[in-house]
Amino acid sequence: MKVSIKFVFYIIFLLFSNELISAEIVNFRFGSNSDLKRIVLDISEDVTFNNKVSKKKIEINFDKKIFLKKRPKKNISLENVILNESSKKLTLNFKHTIHNTNIYLLKKKKNKYSRIVIDYSRNTQKKRIIVIDPGHGGKDSGAVGIRKKLEKNITLAVGLLLKKKIEDNSNFKVILTRKTDIFLKLRDRTKIAKKHNADIFISLHADYNRNKRTRGISLYTLSENASDKEAAALARRENKADFLGNVDLSDETSEVTNILIDLTKRETLNQSSHLVNFLIKEFKNDMNLLQRTHRFAGFAVLKSLDIPSVLIEMGYLSNLKDSKLLNDKNYHNKICDDILKAVKKYFKWKDKNTI
Ligand SMILES: [Zn+2]
Repeated sequence: MKVSIKFVFYIIFLLFSNELISAEIVNFRFGSNSDLKRIVLDISEDVTFNNKVSKKKIEINFDKKIFLKKRPKKNISLENVILNESSKKLTLNFKHTIHNTNIYLLKKKKNKYSRIVIDYSRNTQKKRIIVIDPGHGGKDSGAVGIRKKLEKNITLAVGLLLKKKIEDNSNFKVILTRKTDIFLKLRDRTKIAKKHNADIFISLHADYNRNKRTRGISLYTLSENASDKEAAALARRENKADFLGNVDLSDETSEVTNILIDLTKRETLNQSSHLVNFLIKEFKNDMNLLQRTHRFAGFAVLKSLDIPSVLIEMGYLSNLKDSKLLNDKNYHNKICDDILKAVKKYFKWKDKNTI
C-alpha cells in the first residue's frame, strides 16, 4: 500500500514537472499592416527565451522543451519552420531578408495563451516620419489678423488636418509638435523632431505685413543670411516666441555655431531645397504664391535640425482675401493635399538619389 501511494505521487510529480519543463506552440498567426509584418506564436505556457536574427532567419532558444502542435500554414514570407526539440530551439526561415525585427513575449493574462510576437518588415526603410509643427500656441498667439483671427489657431487646424490626410493616404507616420493650444519653446519643437528621428520637418505659419496688399504663400528654408529684409524681419518675429518663454537663443547663434551649422547642414539644406521645389510645383497649380516664393531666413525653429526642414507661411493675415482663405476649410484642404503630393514626390526623389 505504502509503495503504491509513493508511486502515485511519483506519477503526479512527473506530470506536473513535465508541465513545468515543457510548453506547446498551439498556433501560428500572421498579420500585416502595410509594411509591418507580424507573426504571433500562441504558446500553452509562459516561456522565457532569447533570439538571434540573421538575414533570412530567426532562431528562438527556449528555456523549456517545446512541442509543436500544428505547423504553420503556407505563407508568402515563411519558407519553413524547424523545431529542434532536444535543443529547445525553433528556427523560422524566411523567403526574403527581413528587417527591423522586434520580438517580444506577451504573458498569459486573460488570454488563454502566452504569445511570442515577431514584428518585422521586408523593406530596409522604416516608416517615414514627418514632423509637423503648427506654429505658436498658448500665450504666443503669433500674428493677429483681420477680425482678430489668431495665427496659432490656423496653424493648429491645418496641422491636425494635414496629419489626418497624410496618414490616411500614405505610408508615412506624422508626429505633431502640438495637438492643442499649448505654448512650446522653439527648442522643444526641434527636440521632438530629433527624438522621433524625423525624415522631414514642416513648420506651419501665417504671416503679417504692414502692407495690406501683400498676399500669397511663401516657403522658407534655413540660411544664416536672410534673402531679403522682409525675410529677416519675419525670422525675427517668428523667433521671438522663445523670448516669451524666457529662453535666450543667443548662445546658439554665435558666429562659430553658425559656421558649424553651415558646414554640417549643407546636404540637409540641399534636401530642404528639393522639398521646397516640390511644394512650389504643387502650390503653383491652385494657389497664390508670393513672388520669389522660396526665401531663406535664420529661423530658430529650423536651426538646430539636421533634418530637411521647411517653414510654410500659408498666407497673410493682414490681407483681407488671404485672411478669409486662411480661415476657410476648403483652403485648408487644398494646402494639405498639395503638401501631401509634394511630400510623396520628395521621398520618391530621395529614394532615387540617395543610397
Ligand atoms: Zn508664425
